Amino acid sequence: PAMLWIVATPIGNLEDVAARAARVLSEVAVIAAEDTRHSARLSEHLAIGTPMLSLHEHNEAERVPQLIGRLQAGEAVALISDAGTPLISDPGFALVRAARAEGIEVRCVPGACAAVAALSVAGLPSDRFVFEGFLPARAAGRRARLAELADETRTLLFYESSHRIAAAVADIAATLGEQRPVTLCRELTKLHEQSVQLPAEALGQWLAVDANRRRGEFVLVVGGAAVVERHAVEVTLDALLTELLAVTGTK
Ligand code: SAM
Repeated sequence: PAMLWIVATPIGNLEDVAARAARVLSEVAVIAAEDTRHSARLSEHLAIGTPMLSLHEHNEAERVPQLIGRLQAGEAVALISDAGTPLISDPGFALVRAARAEGIEVRCVPGACAAVAALSVAGLPSDRFVFEGFLPARAAGRRARLAELADETRTLLFYESSHRIAAAVADIAATLGEQRPVTLCRELTKLHEQSVQLPAEALGQWLAVDANRRRGEFVLVVGGAAVVERHAVEVTLDALLTELLAVTGTK
């Protein structure tokens, strides 16, 4: 029956693919994939022969109507991305929106998502959090975005690539404070998986020590503004003390 399946795939370790994901991907008429060559590896691993079509930001305008047409003809379609959950910093929004507009049922096969995986191991408050995706690539834009987030009390989640990890951490220290706790999660579920929690400034130094620490894929989990409340209290106490001394001085 006509159905759009949004199927999560692993973020590194192929063992993480859900049994239901494997079944759905083998049963649908076509798999829309961000990069068909990349996803061929997953098909091979699962021994699936389902035809694949590419769907990415550069061909979305033609592909979406094409896939909607097939769904309207009664076919089942699955959407996957290169890693993790589609639509989370990945293509698919235009397809899901169009399917809903046409009254086509959309179902999920949930699974890995790097942001949630990182949050689960970060050791920072996870009851309320804000997913910010990728920070702007250019320094000025990145600092402006971080400045907007300076007073955010919820835990912040950022995706980052190896090219910009050092710059991003330096800007977090400069904008959100040197003492802001940051958990850097690198290569989750992969061979060189590593996660380390340090104050922002110290994390910058940690990254500078070894080029290998700057390789791979990263999630940065940043403590909210309330986590460094102690600093604010100290500042307030200082001000109070100054005032008290001033008052005492005038008597
Ligand atoms: N849709 C994916 C998800 O559900 O997590 C995210 C896709 S986004 C284009 C890719 C970014 O996700 C990477 O640059 C990195 O920030 C993060 N990421 C993906 N896999 C990761 C992993 N194994 N370890 C750490 N971060 C990862």
